[in-house]
Amino acid sequence: MKKEHLIAAISFVLLAAILLNFYFPLQESFEDRRVKVLKELSSSIEDAVAQGKYHCCINPPCTMCYLGNWIWEDGTCNCDAMIAQGDFDKVCPQCVKAIEKGECESTESTLCEV
Ligand SMILES: [Zn+2]
Repeated sequence: MKKEHLIAAISFVLLAAILLNFYFPLQESFEDRRVKVLKELSSSIEDAVAQGKYHCCINPPCTMCYLGNWIWEDGTCNCDAMIAQGDFDKVCPQCVKAIEKGECESTESTLCEV
């Protein structure tokens, strides 16, 4: 094979690989994946709210309770009721943080102070 033909063949393969990866990426980027995960998470929380299982005091609702990282059963939140009862020890840290920043939207908004 002539040297020119070899270079042309290699260039073609490289170009094809670059184009294929551009149009059909083998791995999605971290950012694409993150957006997908967060969308899925927030639509799952919306479902839980619609089903009456998620009584959060902030908007958008906390994710900590949904993920089961607080005292409630997985997929549920009761932070709003705890604020209404003045039982702030049972409000999840994510909600407490938001309350401290003034983002509380509790049904008992007069109690939105920790
Ligand atoms: Zn919460």
